Amino acid sequence: MAVRGNSIIKGIEISEIINLLNKAYADEWLAYYQYFIESKVTKGIMKDAVVAELTLHAADELRHATMVADRIIQLGGTPLLNPQEWFKQTNCGYDAPTNFDVVAILQDSIKGEQCAISTYSSIADILKDKDIITYNMVSQILADEVEHEEDLQSLHDDISEFVDDLKKSMQ
Ligand code: FE
Ligand code: FE
Ligand code: MG
Repeated sequence: MAVRGNSIIKGIEISEIINLLNKAYADEWLAYYQYFIESKVTKGIMKDAVVAELTLHAADELRHATMVADRIIQLGGTPLLNPQEWFKQTNCGYDAPTNFDVVAILQDSIKGEQCAISTYSSIADILKDKDIITYNMVSQILADEVEHEEDLQSLHDDISEFVDDLKKSMQ
């Protein structure tokens, strides 16, 4: 454990930061898998664009899991060792896809990103002025999650508009 590095943390127990990060770590793995499996099963109009976006997001969530795990270790903690823990620790849960249509898949994913934004935003609030290193990392992840929501929402809106125009042209 980095002794001097961790001595700059003030006003919060390191164990509390580790707990917050392990919960986020569980979220990232579940988000990764949700994107992974969505990209495999989704179908419908403009599917290629949706699959490409979901695949990029899956890679981002895995990168977030790596960032969070590395910081947990730097703080002297241990990232969750058993995937069974993910379901106990998660903030945002896991939404198994039930409707594989691209629009429904995008809606599920948008919901997940909105939860991720709320979660990281409240972690950032807790850590502000207490642990600048974790705060900076969480801010970077939060910026990615905001971008994810926007990417999915604009894709969702484009596809919905396209489908509406198609319906009108057939009337
Ligand atoms: Fe993430
Ligand atoms: Fe995300
Ligand atoms: Mg994207």
